[in-house]
Amino acid sequence: MDTSQESYPAPLGGDLNWRNRLSIMPIPTSISNNPTLLRALNSLIEEGRIKPNLGKALYSVTNINSLFTLANMVKQSRFDNQIYFNQNLHVNTTNICVLACRFCAFRKGPRHDEAYELSIDEYLHRIERFSSSIDEVHSVGGLHPVWDITHYEDLYRSAKTKFPHIHIKSLTAVEIKHLSKRSNLTVKETLQRLKNSGLDSIPGGGAEILVDKIRDRICRGKESSNEYLNIHKEAHTLGIPTNCTMLFGTIETIQDRIVHLDLLRQLQDETNGFQCFVPYPFLPDFSRLPEAQLASSNEILRMIAISRLMLDNIPHIKAYRMNIGDDVAQLALLSGADDIDGTVGHEEIMHSAGSTTALDSSNQDLIRLIHETGQIAVRRNTVYSKFNIENVQVTKSTSLPLLV
Ligand code: SF4
Repeated sequence: MDTSQESYPAPLGGDLNWRNRLSIMPIPTSISNNPTLLRALNSLIEEGRIKPNLGKALYSVTNINSLFTLANMVKQSRFDNQIYFNQNLHVNTTNICVLACRFCAFRKGPRHDEAYELSIDEYLHRIERFSSSIDEVHSVGGLHPVWDITHYEDLYRSAKTKFPHIHIKSLTAVEIKHLSKRSNLTVKETLQRLKNSGLDSIPGGGAEILVDKIRDRICRGKESSNEYLNIHKEAHTLGIPTNCTMLFGTIETIQDRIVHLDLLRQLQDETNGFQCFVPYPFLPDFSRLPEAQLASSNEILRMIAISRLMLDNIPHIKAYRMNIGDDVAQLALLSGADDIDGTVGHEEIMHSAGSTTALDSSNQDLIRLIHETGQIAVRRNTVYSKFNIENVQVTKSTSLPLLV
């Protein structure tokens, strides 16, 4: 597969003809001897989609390596040996939040000793140090009790003026809902104004599990499942690409996870605006959600593999190493994931919840991590329209600046 910018065939990378490529791949006996896996493979080739009941059956496959192999075949049929990453920076605007989701270790009340809110100058200062080496800033935060849309318009305009080359990926669906209410605007008006001021895309955070009875127990007061989907739909309609996520390993059932995946792919059928799906497990700290059924490494990898198989119309599946760690992330890159977090630089939400993933990984560390899986590291921009094959000890890039 040619990855040069000029000849890359599909706007989000990957081979649109992947079902045909899958159909001519040799089938390992561990898959041909397993009726569930064979049915999943044939469903993707012949019907293009794995139905919810079959998706649920994949959770009962005991030969987990065969499941990972099948997910990896699908990933290979779409992206060959390529693994995507970008050079980005996370800047969290505030940890003050009017809600108190039960799984959240990040939020603070406004009078808490560790509560903070970045001024626009502080926000710009955070970016400045990294500005020559990144092309994306990823900014989410709590639901601030005072800030309205004008604050974010000023923030994005200032960032775009100072760093015009940096893509702004910002605000989860619940932040957009909160802003629209605080500003007496519809969601559509809110998104349009934010887009006009410099917002380029929206991350997928806050989906948790798109089943309202679960949401009511783990994040009461947050947007409903329908609101999450509708906010993303509005964004897609306005030409704002988004990602989508799943927080698993709290109190949801396997059926709830299947419902979640099915809702995402139904919306994607309508809008085609999701770029990447990011599944991540709840990280425990023994005080929040003590009833959570925590995900083991095997369970994390199974979830990633099933996401690749079920989400036939969402191109990219991310190994979110900030949450699952570099070691499991490497295995995920052989179990269906084609994308991995970028250099990140700074991250608070998962680290507040107990993540120990290093934040000082250099570009070279990340490339090495990918190479150790026997695959090719491809640097991408946020919207998967520019690609550059990266090697360890690269000193010069043809399309995007490198972190050195
Ligand atoms: S998850 Fe988001 S909305 Fe919920 S408490 Fe944390 S910061 Fe607030």
